Amino acid sequence: MNCAICGNKLKSFQGFKVNKVKQDFVRKICGNCVANLGITKIDSETKNALLLSHIEDLKNLIENNEKFSASVQLEKSSTEKEEELKNEIEQQEKFNDVKNDFIINGSIYSDVLMRDDTKEILLTKNNSSWYRVFQYSDIETFDRKIDEDVSYNTKKKNGITRAIVGDIIAGPVGAIVGSGTAKSSSTENREIKSIDFSIRFNSGYVYSISFSGSNSDIKKADSLYVHLNGIINSNQSTIQSSDSSSNNIDDLTKLKELVDAGVLTEEEFTAKKKQILGI
Ligand SMILES: [Zn+2]
Repeated sequence: MNCAICGNKLKSFQGFKVNKVKQDFVRKICGNCVANLGITKIDSETKNALLLSHIEDLKNLIENNEKFSASVQLEKSSTEKEEELKNEIEQQEKFNDVKNDFIINGSIYSDVLMRDDTKEILLTKNNSSWYRVFQYSDIETFDRKIDEDVSYNTKKKNGITRAIVGDIIAGPVGAIVGSGTAKSSSTENREIKSIDFSIRFNSGYVYSISFSGSNSDIKKADSLYVHLNGIINSNQSTIQSSDSSSNNIDDLTKLKELVDAGVLTEEEFTAKKKQILGI
């Protein structure tokens, strides 16, 4: 391990733990840097304060020739925690409001909720307060993968070997399918293990959701599939209709050129124009 401030190499028993709360791995600083921070004694308060300090803060102290104060660091850290907690609560409340509107006015497919009245989709993640709201028209495409176990139960119905039966009934060996059994019936068992969706938005953002193979989850996944398909189709028809209106304008421009060239009369053009625009 290296000192998180100066980069000097540390042996496993050397150094002082820093920044443990913010990082999920332990970082350490060397005795030299501790001295540069003006720390002369490592008591439990100082240890605690170092654990809660940010490396950047400590670097700044050394750069500005300021002394490390355990009480200042502890105070700062508790203010930060309060602030974080406050933000979390605010985020949770905001999320609850948004989600409630979707629950009352929309359809719920596990972590995905959809409102046809406002044409909005709410994406959430396993009971956290993380969420995103998109318009139906933001949905570019989606993909569904069904993971299933397929097994076969094969039953022999006749002990006579296929080769003999084949020779008598079917003649040439080429007609024989499988050599061991005369007749077999086989039933296919399909068991859905999971259904995974990835929904891609116009911004490039991709959201993934996985449903289990339970009956209720399969139902939810089916309904989500139908709902998403409907949206994709309606998005595409919107694109097509705007395409056809631009085609109409192209057609009219060409017709106008024909009038100008003397091929069509003004009356013929007006009649055609009415027909194309449907007026
Ligand atoms: Zn150091």
